[in-house]
Amino acid sequence: MYLTRPRLRVETLVVLIAVYAVAFGNGPWWSAIAAGRVASAPGTWLFLGCTFVALVALHFVVFALLSNRWTARPLLTLLVIATGFATYYMRTYAVVLDPTMLRNVVETDIHETRELLTFAMVGWVAAWSLPPLVLIWWAELTRTPPWRAALFRIAALAGGLVVVALALLPISRDLTSVMRNQRELRYLVTPGNFIYALARNAARDAQGAALPRLAVGTDARNLLPIDPKRRPRVFVFVLGETARAANFSLFGYPRETNPELSRLDIVAFSDVTSCGTSTEVSVPCMFSRRGRAAYDEQEIHRSEGVLNVLAHAGYDVRWFDNQSGCKGVCNGAGITTLKLDAAYAPDLCNGEDCFDEILVRALREALAGVKRDTVFVLHTIGNHGPAYYRRYPDAFRRFVPDCRTDELRDCSREEVVNAFDNALLYTDHVVASAIGTLREASATLDTALLYMSDHGESLGEGGFYLHGLPWSIAPRVQTHVPMMLWNSTGFATAANVDIACLKKRSGEPLSHDNLFDSLLGAMAVQTSVYRRELDLFSPCRVMTAAAP
Ligand SMILES: [Zn+2]
Repeated sequence: MYLTRPRLRVETLVVLIAVYAVAFGNGPWWSAIAAGRVASAPGTWLFLGCTFVALVALHFVVFALLSNRWTARPLLTLLVIATGFATYYMRTYAVVLDPTMLRNVVETDIHETRELLTFAMVGWVAAWSLPPLVLIWWAELTRTPPWRAALFRIAALAGGLVVVALALLPISRDLTSVMRNQRELRYLVTPGNFIYALARNAARDAQGAALPRLAVGTDARNLLPIDPKRRPRVFVFVLGETARAANFSLFGYPRETNPELSRLDIVAFSDVTSCGTSTEVSVPCMFSRRGRAAYDEQEIHRSEGVLNVLAHAGYDVRWFDNQSGCKGVCNGAGITTLKLDAAYAPDLCNGEDCFDEILVRALREALAGVKRDTVFVLHTIGNHGPAYYRRYPDAFRRFVPDCRTDELRDCSREEVVNAFDNALLYTDHVVASAIGTLREASATLDTALLYMSDHGESLGEGGFYLHGLPWSIAPRVQTHVPMMLWNSTGFATAANVDIACLKKRSGEPLSHDNLFDSLLGAMAVQTSVYRRELDLFSPCRVMTAAAP
């Protein structure tokens, strides 16, 4: 049978693609706004119908602004495939696609992104994209003289806007109340959500790049300056990844996930809340002076953080990375960074991933050369998902069966939890090894270690997996993070801290907002930007002259 190629105007093609995307790429959105409505009521169908027409018209206006006879095919192809991925991602992981989430996906290491690109995902996206792609490439686009095409386009755009307005008219009150009650729903509208997120992130980057980073705490000074009679102080901050407090036996999890740390003399802080639910939000936020209390993403990216203040005070600040970089917080004079990879320790890496013990090895090596007060940050890969099983060596495969695929939904919830717990068990070993290294070094150095995770993780509770839900609505498992402190006696003496007092207070609520001032307090830094009330050590400081 011979089929003639359909002849379509660019505008018609754009409308058809918009209809397809809005109808078939928005399952979570349609079920969310239909929730609680009665199918037999005519009002329900008016509401859903008008919403549908308004969304199609709105997407038409945006796509049509960018499409002409030459750009339409590549642009719509890209759009269709991206919509397929977004739809799959939101369905599978029950996440919403807001600017932060998109930044998360885009800024994650390429090989971490590849973990998300599973066979099932690619197959699903290919099947979903096939019908619109056939239409896009098979249809013949009509040619019209440029001036007529332009006039028609202007009329079509105006018409699109009129349709949006008319469709919203009968449902505006209903829709406004739905959107006001659940603001996050707007991030379910695909592909509008990621187009908006891309545009907004690009605008922020352009703004951010144009402005110089504001200096913070340039008056900082070390209250315990180098003295031949005093040993150098070394503070190690271990930045955890995706470790949730709920699965630490130190905080009451019934399964033994902290066999090594529980044998050490540490202070475990049981009520610590993260600033964000993703690395992109939490890492810049926890090192900043603003924190969650005065959260402003742009200001945080524009201003120096606590590592810069320590550098201003003359400390040697070193960032060791086994992850996707420091998100800007290690930029600045006086801070050195070291990216650890297979070239450094082939025995601890497989392919592009390295186990976190690589950080301990680098720390041990660096400690031998320490001559002055130093702060190390060890940025772990921790429990970075969804491939938890890649985060631990076989020796730590204690909870079985463990999920051994990147496709979490191919595993039972129990297998996912087992893999997550094995990765935690390995983190327990890594942190305990770092402490062991510091303890050995405490013959010549005054050492301490603080461990804190950047955010938690959902492991199937309420159908949610991974992390990244907007902070205000995120379940507690995504924001309740583990934190613990180990110190040598020499360090506690130098910092004037009564550890028994800290232990007594370890159940009090703390958050990422306490990190900025606590690091300054622990290292005895005097500066105008220090706030005693946020320093977790200050209630337990033995009052002497050296306290900041
Ligand atoms: Zn993270």
